[in-house]
Amino acid sequence: MGAGEVLESPAVVLEGSRVAFVGPAWEAPEADRELRGDWFLLPGVVDHHVHIGLSDPRAVLRGGVTFVRDLAWPPEDIFPLADISQATDFEGPAIVAAGPMITTRGGYPTASGWAPAGTGIEVAGAEDAAGAVARIAAQDPAVIKVALNAEAGPTLTDAELLAVCGAAHDRGLAVTAHVQGRGQTERAMGAGVDELAHCPWTERLTDELVEALARSVAVVGTLDIHSYGRTTPELETALDNLRRFAAAGGRVRYGTDLGNGPIPPGIHVREALHLAEAGLDGPAILRAMTLSPLREGAEADLVGLAGDPLEHLEALGRVRLVIRGGGVRLGP
Ligand SMILES: [Zn+2]
Repeated sequence: MGAGEVLESPAVVLEGSRVAFVGPAWEAPEADRELRGDWFLLPGVVDHHVHIGLSDPRAVLRGGVTFVRDLAWPPEDIFPLADISQATDFEGPAIVAAGPMITTRGGYPTASGWAPAGTGIEVAGAEDAAGAVARIAAQDPAVIKVALNAEAGPTLTDAELLAVCGAAHDRGLAVTAHVQGRGQTERAMGAGVDELAHCPWTERLTDELVEALARSVAVVGTLDIHSYGRTTPELETALDNLRRFAAAGGRVRYGTDLGNGPIPPGIHVREALHLAEAGLDGPAILRAMTLSPLREGAEADLVGLAGDPLEHLEALGRVRLVIRGGGVRLGP
């Protein structure tokens, strides 16, 4: 089944940790064990921005999120946890991680209350910045994260930022940036960053910049952290930026910044509703929340919802079935 397609009354057959068949029930091969239910089936849901150390992995998985990307945590804790989480009987989602965020001396997040010591790695000079990438790269990160937060202290120089991007790209690693404060989005894009870890919320981006971003950079939404269900100027600014970015064809990824304030573990319906406010339609939202369509050969990660999210996004909150790596973690 391709992205955006919906199959009526399908059968899905899993073999080990892979999907062996997706299609009409009468064509399905015999299976040892059968689960039947009136579910809307999705491939496993991915949250592209979490801090799993500030949440409960078990609740994340039971809430329908089977795969998370941790975007900043001390490497001595997060990389071993990411390794352990690859076992399909791990009590939580599969975790991949950025490790520490590369920043300048005294820069974000070194003085932030949420971040344990080691969440930021402070560099001085381009050579040091490239060296930090090399050290992180040795631990098999999912992505390299840089901090460009001009509201929380000094930021990396352009030379350091270029060195981070160059060293990461030389190793086939993408770079995601925390941008905050006037001009920081432009700096990130100019240096060749691949992704913004949050949709910018501290300034309205110009149309020219938004269009350039849409051609080269992906954006992780993390919209709800600006308001937690209320309306705030920060949310409005982020929505305005994301709306124009999506309309220009930019790639949006679902991410909640789980661990930052009262974001619930599992699928966060309000984040999906904000993506709809930014102009994404149902199929686009489901694509932003998944890694690949549900098809033969895919990872045997499945989420069953009571209701069709393409009719009502609220159905994303009614998780009734969770399968990770072929194992039933929540079910009838
Ligand atoms: Zn974060």
